[in-house]
Amino acid sequence: MIRTFRLCLTLTAVLASGAVFAADKLPSVVVLATGGTIAGAAASDVQAAYTSGQVGVEQLLAAVPQAKKLAAMRGEQIANIGSQDMNDEVWLKLAKRVNELAAMADVDGIVITHGTDTIEETAYFLNLVVKSKKPVVLTAAMRPSTALSADGPLNFFNAVAVAANKDAGGRGVLVVVNDWIHGASSLTKASTTAVQTFLSPLRGLVGTVAYGECEFYRAAVGKNTMDSEFSLDGVTALPRVDIVMAHENMDGAIIDAAAAAGAKGLVIAGVGNGNMTKPALDALAAQAKKGIVCVRSSRVVTGRVGRNVEVDDDKLALVASDDLNPQKARVLLRLALLKQRSLSDIQRLFREY
Ligand code: ASP
Repeated sequence: MIRTFRLCLTLTAVLASGAVFAADKLPSVVVLATGGTIAGAAASDVQAAYTSGQVGVEQLLAAVPQAKKLAAMRGEQIANIGSQDMNDEVWLKLAKRVNELAAMADVDGIVITHGTDTIEETAYFLNLVVKSKKPVVLTAAMRPSTALSADGPLNFFNAVAVAANKDAGGRGVLVVVNDWIHGASSLTKASTTAVQTFLSPLRGLVGTVAYGECEFYRAAVGKNTMDSEFSLDGVTALPRVDIVMAHENMDGAIIDAAAAAGAKGLVIAGVGNGNMTKPALDALAAQAKKGIVCVRSSRVVTGRVGRNVEVDDDKLALVASDDLNPQKARVLLRLALLKQRSLSDIQRLFREY
């Protein structure tokens, strides 16, 4: 009874805001497939070993016929790889295609199927370079399509429901896995094998989706999509930025090696509040002095890295990552380095995005 009443209220509110599509016309959703475990296959349904990226987009769509009630769908294969192999070539192709599709009047939303390993990086990258308020929703699975209790079909169904929902628009790029709707800037993979692997520890969930029924809790946090100052127009390559993890008894060898390999930027996955040993900090400051942009992030799963807390960033010419984890800090820094910027401007980006 209460549930029906709530549903009526929601429907009335949604109708009043014009946020549903005409009853006779389903929203149009394009599915871009990149591979991952959601398209993975194993020799048996109870086997741990499997190969990502075995199932094509048409098979993926055919496996979830229930989604046809939510949207008129068509699919395109962008790549078919495990997301551990995600690379700049696929990123640039994917971003270009998302921007093209999002600009089409007959496309209402986009779903991207992806592996879980690097989905947070791809989602955050798209969050910064897609110029649209239409829903762009990534989804994935922890179990291959052939597994007992595969999680891919329901994740895909829910992702289509979110992409077909106008209320999902304008919240930045979203990731839908295991009934939860995450913002691209907040989620992180927290378990190597569990179905409930993604968390949004600092900023919380954007919403939830249960069998296609969406609830939205919050707007996007951090500049994104239409507010983003980043653009890939004319970009054919992204600058190299490496991540170096801090640890007990660390010296500066890996920092120097990354610089020697041609890194234009370095992100330290520091201990605690972006800290590292004195020898590592000396090596980092020396590279910063030579013009490599050095960002302190943290290997800790949650919490911000603040400027000038235990490290004198002003004196050593370093940047603090604020609440971006190392993998997302690397994405932002790569885009930031597409043009000449002062350190204070780069620090501003870490506060605003
Ligand atoms: N290694 C796989 C991938 O990222 C894992 C997954 O999709 O869950 O493609």
